[in-house]
Amino acid sequence: MANQKKIIVGNWKMNLNLHEASLYLHKLSGMVKAHRDVEVVLAPTILTLQSLSLQVNWRQFKLAAQNFYWRDHGSFTGEVSASQLRGIVQYALVGHSERRHIFNENDKDIRNKVAAAIRNNIRPILCIGETAWERASGETNDVLHDQLIGGLSNITSEELDQVVIAYEPVWSVGMNQIAKPDDVVAAAKTIRRQLEHLYGPAAADAVQVIYGGSVTSDAAAAYLALPGIDGLLIGGASLDAHEFNEIVKKAHNSSLLIKEG
Ligand code: PEP
Repeated sequence: MANQKKIIVGNWKMNLNLHEASLYLHKLSGMVKAHRDVEVVLAPTILTLQSLSLQVNWRQFKLAAQNFYWRDHGSFTGEVSASQLRGIVQYALVGHSERRHIFNENDKDIRNKVAAAIRNNIRPILCIGETAWERASGETNDVLHDQLIGGLSNITSEELDQVVIAYEPVWSVGMNQIAKPDDVVAAAKTIRRQLEHLYGPAAADAVQVIYGGSVTSDAAAAYLALPGIDGLLIGGASLDAHEFNEIVKKAHNSSLLIKEG
């Protein structure tokens, strides 16, 4: 892990209207301290992104899109492109399990989105992970391998450091079921091994790999201390400002421990 800056991403999913999102941001801004060693990223719905971008203190928070379409413009009714999000967000989730499994996004959509994000100066957070069935069948490594290759096949080694990989076991996301730390370490190793194979050791080492799946402030410190894990993707718990702030504090403390150690 070359980059020691931790990333904490709050995925608000399809929650909070314009008014609620603005109030929430105001509340969170009063709590979260800007730390140089922690990047705090908020992923509200697309509806609220622009207005939050006018309120947000960029030194305190970055913004992420939860989704977008990969073409830059054209006749695609109902879609928003990465080129339209440029300058409003610094990050975008790509291939979140809810998009893969509820909206049937496939590897081609996902690789096009990863490339569109990079083309528009937005860091893609590529989410990968196995379902409960794949895990029970011993296919976790194969799934991670396929989803990495599927998502990154348009990306060069020079572009790779723009990408964040989120390991999110599907059976854990939104399910109040957390993965065992050993399994998360093993998945992070598999991911880096695969990246090394594709891009070489230096590029693979520079990539930030984060974990997500039912993490709360109680479990955050343990995951943040795992080797090869550079941050967390938080869904449900990010909707509670106090909880989310506690998680950010844990990320800061874990960076201090790394520096001191
Ligand atoms: C997510 O939405 O990426 C996520 C990890 O959700 P939750 O924390 O609710 O499992």
